[in-house]
Amino acid sequence: MRLAGKVALITGAGSGIGRQAALRFAQEGAKIVVVDLNLAAAEETVGLVKKQGGEAIATRADVSKAADSAAMVALAEETYGALHILFNNAGISHADDDNAETTEESVWDLTFDVNVKGVFFGCKYGIPAIRRAGGGSIINTASFVAVLGAATPQLAYTASKGAVLSMTRELATIHAREGIRVNALCPGPLRTELLMKYLNTEEKRQRRLVHIPMGRFGEAVEIANAALFLASDEASFTTGATFLVDGGITAAYVTPE
Ligand code: NAD
Repeated sequence: MRLAGKVALITGAGSGIGRQAALRFAQEGAKIVVVDLNLAAAEETVGLVKKQGGEAIATRADVSKAADSAAMVALAEETYGALHILFNNAGISHADDDNAETTEESVWDLTFDVNVKGVFFGCKYGIPAIRRAGGGSIINTASFVAVLGAATPQLAYTASKGAVLSMTRELATIHAREGIRVNALCPGPLRTELLMKYLNTEEKRQRRLVHIPMGRFGEAVEIANAALFLASDEASFTTGATFLVDGGITAAYVTPE
């Protein structure tokens, strides 16, 4: 029970990494505030948490909206009395996100609103709550693309994840002496809806797999397990980290045959 007595708020918890994190955190004793734009998906996650004997509550919030972000944090404190763990995980990858010449301003703005402003608002309202709880852990989901370029462009997404990474480092530095750790979790390519909806042919999948030393996509639960470490006291000396969980993709020059 690595999170016994803790309250965790997870955004984007109606799917993928966020849902798996809700399940893993609850197994380790945390009470979970399951946040998603899609309320039905959030409620489904709560159902899964309860089925395994855990405690959770669902709420709809658009993390790019200040009022929604303030309300989700208030709900955590009202329902469970405190907030110790904030997992700013919600993110989007827009179908029309491309290179500098072709990407529309509206695509750029939407991507930054959710991926960057969403993390900022989570921290803006979450940090005072975590301070009131006596300290805790913030995990911001960036991506391996924050440290690696690709010739299959998603310029707004890539830039947004770079922003999450640099914002995380600065927040970690600001709040280090008040018991608030802030780390960036950088997943490699995963077998979740977010990526697989684009990699819809074997040829497209192979184009990526050749770069991953392990020769496979990651699973959402493998990222949730890394988030669990960062959330727990086992990571008590870990802050400001670029925590890459990527099957070795960022370490590779030539990959095995
Ligand atoms: P996913 O699409 O399965 O889940 C994302 C969830 O976020 C969805 O349930 C969606 O409804 C929710 N969401 C979207 N916009 C929102 C908003 N404005 N407010 C609240 N919720 C919102 O994706 P995933 O693969 O689990 O990705 C989670 C995070 O991991 C994202 O930040 C993503 O960028 C990042 N990531 C994913 C991969 C990958 O390969 N899948 C790789 C690196 C990083």
